[in-house]
Amino acid sequence: MLGQMQSQPLLISMLMDFAERHHGDGEIVSRRVEGDVHRYTYRDLAGRAKQLAHALDGAGLAQGDRVATLAWNGYRHMELYFGVAGSGRVVHTLNPRLHPEQLAWIVNHAEDRVLCFDMTFLPLIQAVHGNCPTVKQWVALCDADKLPADSGIPGLVSYEAWIGGHSSQYIWPQLDENTAAGLCYTSGTTGNPKGALYSHRSTVLHAYGGALPDAMGLSARDSMMPVVPMFHVNAWGLPYGATLTGCKVVFPGPAMDGKSIYELMESEGVTMAAGVPTIWQMLLSHVQGNKLKFSALTRTVIGGSACPPAMIDTFREEFGVDVLHAWGMTETSPLGTVCTLKNKHLALPREEQLQIRLKQGRAIFGVDMRIVGDDGQEQPWDGKTFGDLQVRGPWIMQSYFKGSDPSVKDAAGHDWFPTGDVATIDADGFMHITDRTKDVIKSGGEWISSIDIENIAMAHPAVAMAACIGMPHPKWDERPIVAVVKKPGAELTREELLAFYEGKTAKWQIPDDVVFVDAIPLGATGKMLKTRLRELLKDYRLPGA
Ligand code: ADP
Repeated sequence: MLGQMQSQPLLISMLMDFAERHHGDGEIVSRRVEGDVHRYTYRDLAGRAKQLAHALDGAGLAQGDRVATLAWNGYRHMELYFGVAGSGRVVHTLNPRLHPEQLAWIVNHAEDRVLCFDMTFLPLIQAVHGNCPTVKQWVALCDADKLPADSGIPGLVSYEAWIGGHSSQYIWPQLDENTAAGLCYTSGTTGNPKGALYSHRSTVLHAYGGALPDAMGLSARDSMMPVVPMFHVNAWGLPYGATLTGCKVVFPGPAMDGKSIYELMESEGVTMAAGVPTIWQMLLSHVQGNKLKFSALTRTVIGGSACPPAMIDTFREEFGVDVLHAWGMTETSPLGTVCTLKNKHLALPREEQLQIRLKQGRAIFGVDMRIVGDDGQEQPWDGKTFGDLQVRGPWIMQSYFKGSDPSVKDAAGHDWFPTGDVATIDADGFMHITDRTKDVIKSGGEWISSIDIENIAMAHPAVAMAACIGMPHPKWDERPIVAVVKKPGAELTREELLAFYEGKTAKWQIPDDVVFVDAIPLGATGKMLKTRLRELLKDYRLPGA
């Protein structure tokens, strides 16, 4: 027997309609490529998303056609999220930090029909447009008078002219909720980029889950700044969560340095922000260096790579800001877990709380997770035994766009997505990433967590960034070394740092060597690129090896 409730598909247009009707005057503030700060409301956003939908109809785009974006976080990008998906097309966010060849490869693989780009990326588009034959319309996200006369890009139009003449009334199509809505390629730190194709249903459910109090806790009382780029797994779903809750949105645009982000946070009363650890490193050094305080910020979601415990502690103790450590992947929309304490943890002393806070946290309802051993058997949740992390749920990818299905089945026939991460889960359900499978260091048959080694180095006051990799060793197979970037002006010797490890980890896990470097290579989403670091250190030999 079926229930007798209205059957309404979960659609991205539903989020837009809700925002327009229920918090239409909510503010969306964007620092623009043009340099100024732009303000408008959810109602304005909805009207312009509808104008865009007309423009897409006018361009003859079919349902399911891909519309690519190459843009910073800002209101026009948000209009694309809703106008493209709402009208039944697929928003494909491109990462401008990719190598031009890789970018063209992705555009061709996705068969993008329209590509909308911020003027910052004009040179990049000029370099790649000849290699992107599927793109029939190039759109510059600017006013008509900002369009260069001689761009060399055939048929280039300005976004404002393109959508300008259209009506701000539009009836969104009633789609099947499983219709494709968004496409995002992994950044390629683990091989060739692969596309995760999100549906309306997965996107709406992910927005619901992400807004929960034990996830990102978004509300209409927040002023929220997604520092995480909209091309990095849809800014972790925050633009969708915003329409669902009506929080004020503050987009940092292209100004991603510590000073610009801090100033915008302060002037717009930002209460909640989200980004990768490298961004917060920059922000903290600006704030500490200038003896500043956050006047409104209460919490920041940090994920994408392991957040060093020292950063969690500094935010809490110096600034009264809670770090919500989160874990996810392109293939998981991305939110899988967020670290929020349980009631029973609140009375614990600071140090014990920190030991929990540094974990990647508990699964959000909708996501199930498990760890399995080499034999495929599920491992216990004891906080010690580690295994390959697998996840399942309505916003977890089944198979790659035009690609393979990596899922593994359990005895009950359920599909699990193998994340490529190694983790422990404790009795309270807190998951802790030890490593990526390929970064784990195998020394004498035992595993060493590169993240643990990095976290200890990062707690040293002279260390700005640390990356631990395994080096071949004749006796132990591999031994860890740590590549370190010193803070400007700081003094630190190899011996001092190695001594700093004493008592903080088992003796055999202490790195064999410290290599001082000017910078650690970062990938397109601001994560340490260990593949590149290994290449740079290919002639390195361990002492005594
Ligand atoms: P890519 O795989 O191309 O780097 P993703 O953004 O999908 O791009 O990366 C997902 C991976 O990032 C995860 O599998 C995990 O290894 C890592 N990651 C994400 N969040 C965290 C976190 N909080 N702690 C440790 N690792 C993390």
